Amino acid sequence: MSTQFETLNPTRLARCFNVSQAMIMVVRSADLILVDVNTAFEAFTGLSRDLVLGKKPSDVGLWQDDQQRRAIAAQLSGNNGVAQTVVSFHAREGKFGHGNLFAERFEFGDQSYFLASMQRVVLNDEPMLALEASLDSYASFFQDSDEGFFRIWPKQGGIIAANEKFASTLGYASVSELMETSRIMPLNHFLKPEDQLAMVDAVYSDTGKFFTPRVELVRQDQQRVWASISARAVRDRDSRMLFIEGRLTDLSILDAANAKVAHIEEQHRLVVDNASMGVFVTIEDTIKLANPAMCKMLGYESADLIGRRYLDFILPEDYQLMAKRTTARGNGERLEKDYEVRAIRKDSDVRWVSVRAEAIQFDGKAAITGSVRDITDERAAAERLAQAETRYRNLFENASMGLFLVDKNGILLEANRTILKLFGFEDSLQLREYFNDFSHVFADATERLRFTEALEMQLTLQDVEARMMHRNGHEFWVLLSLRVAESGANSIFEGSLQDVSARRIAERQLKFQANHDNLTRLPNRQRFETMLGEFLTRLRLQPFTPELSHWVWLLDLDGFKVVNDSLGHAAGDELLVLIADRLVKELPETLVFSRYGGDEFALTTRDVETEGYAINLAESALRSLSRPFLVRGHQIFATASIGISKMDASYKDPQHVMRDADTAMYRAKSLGKNRYEVFDTDMHLAAQERLQIETDLRFGLDRDEFVTYYQPIVDLRSGRIVGAEALTRWKHPIRGLLLPGVFIKIAEESGLLLSIDLLMMDEACKQMAIWQREFKDQAPQTVSVNVSDRLFAAPGFSGSLADLIRNAGISPSCLQLEVTETVFRGDFNETVAILRELKSTGVRLLVDDFGTGYSSLVSFTDAAFDGLKIDRGFVIDIETNERNRALVKTICQFARDLNLSLVSEGVESFKQTEILIELGCDLGQGFRYAPALSAEAFAARLKSTNFR
Ligand code: C2E
Ligand code: CA
Ligand code: CA
Repeated sequence: MSTQFETLNPTRLARCFNVSQAMIMVVRSADLILVDVNTAFEAFTGLSRDLVLGKKPSDVGLWQDDQQRRAIAAQLSGNNGVAQTVVSFHAREGKFGHGNLFAERFEFGDQSYFLASMQRVVLNDEPMLALEASLDSYASFFQDSDEGFFRIWPKQGGIIAANEKFASTLGYASVSELMETSRIMPLNHFLKPEDQLAMVDAVYSDTGKFFTPRVELVRQDQQRVWASISARAVRDRDSRMLFIEGRLTDLSILDAANAKVAHIEEQHRLVVDNASMGVFVTIEDTIKLANPAMCKMLGYESADLIGRRYLDFILPEDYQLMAKRTTARGNGERLEKDYEVRAIRKDSDVRWVSVRAEAIQFDGKAAITGSVRDITDERAAAERLAQAETRYRNLFENASMGLFLVDKNGILLEANRTILKLFGFEDSLQLREYFNDFSHVFADATERLRFTEALEMQLTLQDVEARMMHRNGHEFWVLLSLRVAESGANSIFEGSLQDVSARRIAERQLKFQANHDNLTRLPNRQRFETMLGEFLTRLRLQPFTPELSHWVWLLDLDGFKVVNDSLGHAAGDELLVLIADRLVKELPETLVFSRYGGDEFALTTRDVETEGYAINLAESALRSLSRPFLVRGHQIFATASIGISKMDASYKDPQHVMRDADTAMYRAKSLGKNRYEVFDTDMHLAAQERLQIETDLRFGLDRDEFVTYYQPIVDLRSGRIVGAEALTRWKHPIRGLLLPGVFIKIAEESGLLLSIDLLMMDEACKQMAIWQREFKDQAPQTVSVNVSDRLFAAPGFSGSLADLIRNAGISPSCLQLEVTETVFRGDFNETVAILRELKSTGVRLLVDDFGTGYSSLVSFTDAAFDGLKIDRGFVIDIETNERNRALVKTICQFARDLNLSLVSEGVESFKQTEILIELGCDLGQGFRYAPALSAEAFAARLKSTNFR
């Protein structure tokens, strides 16, 4: 598609010259047919335009001189045009016309045309006159013309006449200088001899005419010049050659001008046609020109656009915008050259366009030219960008994570609100200042250095933990990430900070909790043993020195259970905290303290120490604990038994060290409590024996090595056997008959006592059945069995008990269960519930060793118990110990009041019997009557006692 200039159509071209005095003809070059003529043509020739169009000038009898016609035709067909040739033609009303013909070729579409103009046309009645007249009329023109004219003699070529232009074109200072030369003008100025020959040939030919549109000449000053030359022979009526006359046009100026114009036009056209921008020209609001880009933008063919009002393509809503511009222009204000409006495409699509308009003169009329750019996508993109930017801003600003940009010198470029908050600022300027001195930002200056180095090395930091400092000086933990956002000379880093203080605190708490005791805040057992393991490893790497070793102290509080039971667990907890605090405060801080178990504390040295140190420390600890503690208004004495063990490199496992400390601690307990014992090999042997017993116990149970002995319970007044207590004996295959004291604690700890108890119970019930069968009413009324706390609390115990009784075929009321007060250590309500359940089987319940522990008096109120057994400890010195006597008296009174049976244990003498009777106790057992006896021995004793 090419730019459409209305005026360029050759069939309408001549009409542009309707006002001109010159005759204008547009001739198709292919067949020299007239395609357009102007009104001057019609006026001079008397031929109407309609008549001549589509015909050749010769067809309409225009030419006077056929020779001339052919010469012109030849020129036109061979050249690009005719340059000023005087031609004759048949004018209107039989007149003869003469004029100066110019013709130039131009291209339109794929056709080529000549625009011919005949100037200075004169009409005459005579043909020759016409010529002469025309020649005369040229006299002045000839002299002043911008073109060179010449007349030369034929043959010799001497100059007859020439004008100034001719002389100057050929490099002469004046016409006279030219006339003085002997050169044949202009023939010997041709650069190429063949051009010279062509001219001579042409002039002397039949036509007598010569024309060359472009020929290179050599001037007098040797410079070269391009010129067009036409020449003809002028002959008289007899055809004798009079002279040669011609015209020489200096093309250099024209060339330059033409070249320039052509170039500019071409360039403009190229630019306009190929512009990606729309280009338009409007005159009186009507589109006169629209380039291909413009057409494409609006979706029209160019023909659809030309001639339309430009407002047709503007969205009506935007008219006002346009109107405003117009008003502004009308008011003489500076015109907005650039504006944006919405244009409507042929397919009804609305596009945003940016217009730059300029007022110009076009064809002599006020016109507007402008360029148009479709900015719809641009606008959308800009909008999207703005939205994205807003979104990003929002994200950035409202991120819960602190986000920031810093340059490579650490200058803060941007920071979001979270960062401000993290550091305690409200104003980002203040924060920037704060950041300028990095010593503020990092709580630890070396940390900052570490990060800068890491960053230089790897250009990125991912989730590193750092301690930073709040404006008010407090430290907080962050997770810091940094990466290069823009690299180069001015690299920029983008980073994020996440406050992880809370997480760290939680983590530390978790870790602390895993390793520490909640109550005392001391390291727990696990932590203690881990540390011990670390010390042991270290120790084993060092040269062995037996005298230097780590020491471990295991402190077990004496009678802590009493505190727990009497004042409650909360008070017990308080006491533990007070004890821990006091130990930590008063003992060397180089020690490792731990709460090792319920009422156990373990201590160890961080370094090797002597035995003297270990003993001194134990004594310090005992001294420290000897002062009472104040718990809820109660003064409490909390002594401890301390086991000391030495950890040297011979140990393989820290737990063995603890085991030995435990053994030593037990020794200290058994030796009277509130003292320390250093573990030694004897203890080790004892411990080994313990282990042996435990092993043997398991075999013993399998091999039925446990037998039941029965200790008689007698009526203190009559000495009659009224009952029996079943006590277990172990017939050890090597060690002989073993008493419970040797094995019962070990059995309890290893969980074997349960089986022993049930075994005893089963045998006792069966034995009772035998007695009843054998001795009838002389048989013991009851048999007592000891129930360990484990069995007491064992699920399903009452069920198995009922089974045993049913199995033996005795009345449940014959069986008495002896439980100690320690059953109340557990949950009180649970204990009461178990008691009731046991009671519901019909058995009798006794409290064993009454007075040594702590029984809640409440437990007696709902009549769960049937009787008490006074502990041997009260009886043993009842003769001498007033206090014990008083206690026993109280117990007796208590039993009577609650209707409880009462048995005294450990009655060994007559005197004791007397006192007990006096104090109100009726029943007793003890060596005075009989130790625990085998079933046979018991039967024998029964016979001798009850059947007297
Ligand atoms: P316990 O229930 O207080 O039993 C009474 C203990 O006192 C028995 O010791 C008995 O032999 C001893 N004894 C009786 N009269 C006298 C005396 O006049 N003077 C002295 N010094 N001691 C006397 P034994 O048989 O060695 O039992 C010790 C403890 O072992 C028992 O104390 C009981 O708590 C426990 N026991 C024994 N057999 C069993 C059993 O089958 N199951 C459970 N759970 N514990 C048992
Ligand atoms: Ca007992
Ligand atoms: Ca007892």
